[in-house]
Amino acid sequence: MQRFETAREAALALRPDRPVYGFRPSVLDADARAFLSAFRGRTAYAVKTNGEPFVLERLAKAGVDAFDVASPAEFAAARAASADAALFYMHPVKAQSDVRLALEGYGIRSLALDHEDEVAKILRIVRAQDIAPGDVTLFVRLATKGHAAYELSKKFGAAPAHAVELLQRIDRIGFRAGVTFHVGSQVEDLAAYERALGTADWVRGRSGVELAALDIGGGFPARYGQDPRRPSPPAPEVGDLVRRIESEIDAWGLGDLPLIAEPGRVIVARCLSVIVRVLLKKGQRLYINDGIWSSLSDSWTGKITLPARLIPDPARKRGARASDRLTPFRVMGATCDSVDILSRPFWLPEGVDVGDWIEIGHIGAYSLALRTRFNGFYPDEFVEVATPFEAEEGAEGFASLEPRGGVAAG
Ligand SMILES: *Cc1c(COP(=O)(O)O)cnc(C)c1O
Repeated sequence: MQRFETAREAALALRPDRPVYGFRPSVLDADARAFLSAFRGRTAYAVKTNGEPFVLERLAKAGVDAFDVASPAEFAAARAASADAALFYMHPVKAQSDVRLALEGYGIRSLALDHEDEVAKILRIVRAQDIAPGDVTLFVRLATKGHAAYELSKKFGAAPAHAVELLQRIDRIGFRAGVTFHVGSQVEDLAAYERALGTADWVRGRSGVELAALDIGGGFPARYGQDPRRPSPPAPEVGDLVRRIESEIDAWGLGDLPLIAEPGRVIVARCLSVIVRVLLKKGQRLYINDGIWSSLSDSWTGKITLPARLIPDPARKRGARASDRLTPFRVMGATCDSVDILSRPFWLPEGVDVGDWIEIGHIGAYSLALRTRFNGFYPDEFVEVATPFEAEEGAEGFASLEPRGGVAAG
């Protein structure tokens, strides 16, 4: 990767017409270490959030020694980044051949499930491979209710009474039993964790099974942009949130269990940006060379406030009336369909024009993995950037909700 001090330098040197990702390894190191030092249990990075080899390798170097994996490709990616990291296979519904590969090929001994047929599936393979059940920990995934930006319990999780039965079944067979939940993604509300911990405690008590571990999943909120017109509190500092969750764990009497967490977004969101170019300006509409089918699908849901910064093209003439006042622009993506329009306007300096670049920050989570080849666009160029996004020069814009009598009329 070519290395630049700032994203602005990268844009002006390369003058890219296609999107270019700015990877900030020092930010990734800092965010990984912040979580590792805040959490007293074991940190298993959730590979699905961003499974690029350069990200996984950097995380391994920063001290991440466990990965939450869900597929053979993720087993391989995590193993390639670290020969001796522990792999936790936390997908509750698995193909039989994938379970075989996990146990035999990768030596995985921790798996999640939420149904008795999955216990039977795993047991068949454990017996066939002559593995001692006592060497395998099966985590029962609990259903949870919460207010995450992304709700994930619609799909997975056993109701409490069902979870009790599953734990007892697992224990009878001779497997080690664990409990896990995943409250969603970008969860800013501690109550979601509190409720899940309450359920975990109830299930543990009812089952009478001695638990080998408690895995509290992911969901920890990353810091995104800040809309100055909406003084909603920023996402809590990861250290604060983790401390509060840990004291809840202790309050529920679960603090004696070995703990695992599966953070994704909170570790990788800030380490990556994308430098896009303005291809056309029609009034308050900007047509850019990226969009929801490429790097920006996560933002399309409208639940996060992405920070953005204009990098004006010094080679073009700036209009006499061009001002730096932030005004909202509707952002149209690169593909030929009407879905590819960002759900939130981007607030950018009024003078933005064709040929300028916009650096959209904090897209490290759920962007690269969700790129598609739709319409033949597939951004895949990377540069390394030393300066954190927040420390670059120029006013910080952001993608936020429509103004209601806000700063400027669209
Ligand atoms: C996606 C996922 C994670 C990571 O979630 P973040 O919100 O990115 O922290 C962790 N655990 C499981 C089971 C997941 O599916």
